[in-house]
Amino acid sequence: MDLDTVSRTGTVAPHEERVVAGLCGVCAAGCGVEIVLEDGRIKRLRPRPGHPRGIVCTRGTRAPEVVYSPDRLLYPQLRVGRRRAGRFERVSWDEAYAFLVERLQTIAAEHGPEALAVYTGRGNFELGLNDTFAPAGPTESSANAVLFPFGSPNTTGVGSLCFVSYGMIAPRACFGEEYRNLSEDVDHADLVLVWGANPATASPPENLVRLKHLQARGGRVIVIDPRRSETARALRAEWVGIRPGTDGALAIGMLHVLIAEGRCDRRFVEEFTHGFEELAAYAADFTPERVEAITGVPAETVREVARAVAAASGCSLLMYTGLEYSNSGVQAIRAALTLQALAGHLDAPGGKLIGAPDRLRLHRHVTSPPDGARPAIGSAEFPLFHEVRREAHAALLPRAILDGEPYPVRGMIVSGTSILTAWPESSRWRHALEALDLLVVVNRFPTADAASADLLLPATTMFEIESYQEYHGHVELRRRVVEPLGEARNDYLIFAELAARLGYGERWPQTERGLVELALEGTGITYEELAASPDGVELPQPAPTYRKYETGGLRPDGRPGFNTPTGRFEIASEWLRGHGYEPLPVYTEPAEGPIAAPELARRFPLVLTSGARTKADFRSQHHNIPSLVALQPSPLAHLHVADAAARGIGDGDEVDLVTPRGRVRFRAHVTEDIVRGAVEANMGGGGPLGTPAWRAANVNELTDAGNYDALSGFPVFKALLCEVEPAV
Ligand code: SF4
Repeated sequence: MDLDTVSRTGTVAPHEERVVAGLCGVCAAGCGVEIVLEDGRIKRLRPRPGHPRGIVCTRGTRAPEVVYSPDRLLYPQLRVGRRRAGRFERVSWDEAYAFLVERLQTIAAEHGPEALAVYTGRGNFELGLNDTFAPAGPTESSANAVLFPFGSPNTTGVGSLCFVSYGMIAPRACFGEEYRNLSEDVDHADLVLVWGANPATASPPENLVRLKHLQARGGRVIVIDPRRSETARALRAEWVGIRPGTDGALAIGMLHVLIAEGRCDRRFVEEFTHGFEELAAYAADFTPERVEAITGVPAETVREVARAVAAASGCSLLMYTGLEYSNSGVQAIRAALTLQALAGHLDAPGGKLIGAPDRLRLHRHVTSPPDGARPAIGSAEFPLFHEVRREAHAALLPRAILDGEPYPVRGMIVSGTSILTAWPESSRWRHALEALDLLVVVNRFPTADAASADLLLPATTMFEIESYQEYHGHVELRRRVVEPLGEARNDYLIFAELAARLGYGERWPQTERGLVELALEGTGITYEELAASPDGVELPQPAPTYRKYETGGLRPDGRPGFNTPTGRFEIASEWLRGHGYEPLPVYTEPAEGPIAAPELARRFPLVLTSGARTKADFRSQHHNIPSLVALQPSPLAHLHVADAAARGIGDGDEVDLVTPRGRVRFRAHVTEDIVRGAVEANMGGGGPLGTPAWRAANVNELTDAGNYDALSGFPVFKALLCEVEPAV
């Protein structure tokens, strides 16, 4: 019995329990929840009925364990002794800022302000933070512009290896729009291709619910994936197993069928596309039989799925990172977008919807890069990425740090991220972080990067802050549910105060309320109104309209067409051509694959793919949360029963995954739910917390920083060669 609950009279005082409406603060999805508080502490969450995102996922149910974890960083700490010795001493926030500002100014004086970089990760996906510290230019960004006024253009982060290919570069190249203005009309589709995405493990898993409803209406779901994913299994959906990294060939093969069989939307092709004839010539070679030889997908399946896409009254395409991490990357996604469009499903009921340009949105407070500064790192090497993001490309930071090319980077603030577990060739990044004159880590938990830090700054969970969340046509105040633990601070306030300490704090509100008020500017909604509305406030939206490219509803000049250089859907992208890239959505065979590298494939005959999400963690997060890690105490390598049998490997055995870069231990999951010849290895291991098995298994010791999609700079995580050996 807790002594605090015993009153002086000897009777047991009941725990005070109350329920508040709020938002889950474990990740940035902002699921609407009812939060049960016991004596002011979070006890559990449950879905909030009627909320636009009233869900609690597996990770969300563990919110109390996350918030009250004994591993939380709760005080600013300065390194004592050498790097990676793991010794830090607690300091005050004043001392922390004094140290930080002095180091930033010294590095800027010695090397120029461009020698400083900010890297933000998935842990910093908080809408208020992202939309208020956003660089000017991109339609959306999680990069942090706090050092722009200081003179550094080098803000960067997880966008350098996630989302931007799929959500920004590919759709902009095809039809001049980006993800922020797009949605899939699953609720009115009769066919959905789930392609390189896994809604069952997504944050939030709301599309899984929509897919179940679609099936209940008689709709069809086809999952295209090397794995019979959690989504495919949960829905008992049709599974098209594909060799990792060959999705582009499949998309072009299906385009071949559409073109050869006259199943394209002829009017769309003739009036609104650019490059159709070149595509037809290119796709002519991609017969279903040839595509079968490349992808492993039976020729008859290629034909049947293509015909189904063409025949559907509405076909949505749920994609995500799965197609980004191959040598075909951007072009594979473009091929899939082209398939959907030529079959008549662009801005059409049940297909991909384009938002009206003039709809009411929250205000984004953007900051321009510094005038006259040296170009952001990577802007010359990856110009498409730089044009859509206006940020540095993190893939080239190690070169800048270790080799001073194109100029030195000497100081970094890394926030809400774990670089060493996220990027290929962890050892090169480790050397880079250790070579810095300043490394600051802002986070809720210690990360692999933190061991090399000079300064650790403790951030709050999103249960401890006030901010806002926007859904489609709906805005809600994110209310503080519990006070910040220890001396942890809202990430937003950490950066706002840094700006103030650097002498330009007037550029950003210095309070959470000020942040919310700034977002509401121009909406007609006041802070008081929002605060008084526990269920949020509607942002009035125009009624949806379709095929706006026919009526001039997409272009600023009011003419029919798209916001592309030719005003058409650019199957042949003039933007790409202008930068020297192949304009058609061509297929590139995996550079390290059995076809392109047969010699290597004799030693490493299996295809390694990594990064599929699990329900029990989010990348490197949550391996220290007892009830989550209990769901999966070890990182798994999924391999086919036939491949396992050929190697004498049984389900649950310890195995070594081996690539030309190294050897890492996993536990075998032997299954028929993966295509033969492929191995899916969990990523996210290698951090300082969690079980020994997770701490030891960083899959990115096996990946290759030199193997990437040339258009985006995204690493190839999905198509490398490996061997699996029984552990000895
Ligand atoms: S997806 Fe899960 S963890 Fe994220 S906000 Fe929703 S319930 Fe919380």
